[in-house]
Order: sequence, then C-alpha cells, then structure tokens
Amino acid sequence: GSAVSDSKNLRVKLVLLGDSGVGKSCIVLRFVRGQFDPTSKVTVGASFLSQTIALQDSTTVKFEIWDTAGQERYAALAPLYYRGAAVAVVVYDITSPESFSKAQYWVKELQKHGSPDIVLALVGNKADLHENRSVSSQDAIDYAEKNGMFFIETSAKTADNINQLFEEIAKRLPRPTS
Ligand code: GDP
Ligand code: MG
Repeated sequence: GSAVSDSKNLRVKLVLLGDSGVGKSCIVLRFVRGQFDPTSKVTVGASFLSQTIALQDSTTVKFEIWDTAGQERYAALAPLYYRGAAVAVVVYDITSPESFSKAQYWVKELQKHGSPDIVLALVGNKADLHENRSVSSQDAIDYAEKNGMFFIETSAKTADNINQLFEEIAKRLPRPTS
C-alpha cells in the first residue's frame, strides 16, 4: 500500500504536479530546508527529499517527496511518477491562468488514474505576487470544493502557509486501522 505505517507513524509518498515554473521545487525546499533560493535552476534529474512532521496527537508523518524533473511534460511518463502516491499536491501560480487550467488537467488525470484513496491538495503558489493576481481565490475554492480537494494559497518566497499545507495534508491521511 501507499501508506507504510503503524498506527503512530505514517510514511507516505507525496508527488507534486503542475506547470513548469509554478514553484514546486521551491515549495519543497522551503518545507524541507527552510530556504528559498531565487536563483535556483530548473530541477535536473529526479529529486527526492523527505521530511517528518509531528501532529498534535503525537503521530508522526514522514513525507517522501518526489519532485518531478519535468516528467509532467510527458503525459505518458506521469503515471510512473505518481504511481503509489498517497498524496498529490497540484500546484499553480496565482498570476497564471494557464497554470490554473493545467492544474485542473492534473486533477482529472489523478482522479482517473491515481490511487483511489489519494489525498489531493490544490495549491495556489506565489501568493506574495498578489498585485499580479489573475486567478481569484474564490474560483479556486469553488473548484477545490467541487472536487473534494484541500485548497490553500502559499508563498515559497515568504514561507506563507508552507508548513500549514503539509500539516493539513497530514491530518487528512487515511489512518491504518489495525
Ligand atoms: P517548478 O518548475 O514548479 O519546480 O518551479 P521552481 O520551484 O523552479 O520555481 C520557478 C520560479 O518561480 C523560480 O524563479 C522561483 O524563484 C520562483 N518562485 C517559486 N515560488 C515562488 C513564490 O512563492 N513567490 C515568488 N515570487 N516566486 C516564486
Ligand atoms: Mg522543479
């Protein structure tokens, strides 16, 4: 199964999907290392990072994070990437309507071909660029609600809502019953 776990310690595969340039790698680096590097290059090669968080009920969740190296551009490769994922974080850029459309494409893809119990999160990143916003929060809220997804706006640059994103995902994970 995708959640290898005992009742107190979950280990889950998490993938990020979304247009190139929306900030997927920066979200991961902010969450795992607490850093933002505005000069960072496009991810080359597969990148894998993990980070464990503790919840208030004293359970821990270890996220094994697969950061795409551009597989998302090749529709045929994407299923290899998200196979077995317990969590998919679908990211768009709040200044880019095209990236919001692409996010909706990925949601449909995951609903069709992802694990049946996958936890889906919709993330509007680059919230610090609110002066250039061109995707309204309400449109995203409505879309997420219709699709039973968790939604949040983040900024990898300022760290706004980055930890909250992963905490909310952790709370929504199916728990092992044994
Ligand atoms: P990816 O292709 O989705 O992995 O995108 P990256 O993480 O490589 O980020 C693409 C570009 O967006 C980089 O130049 C980042 O510095 C920038 N970026 C990422 N997150 C943010 C953010 O929250 N705010 C702003 N202003 N820029 C961001
Ligand atoms: Mg990247």
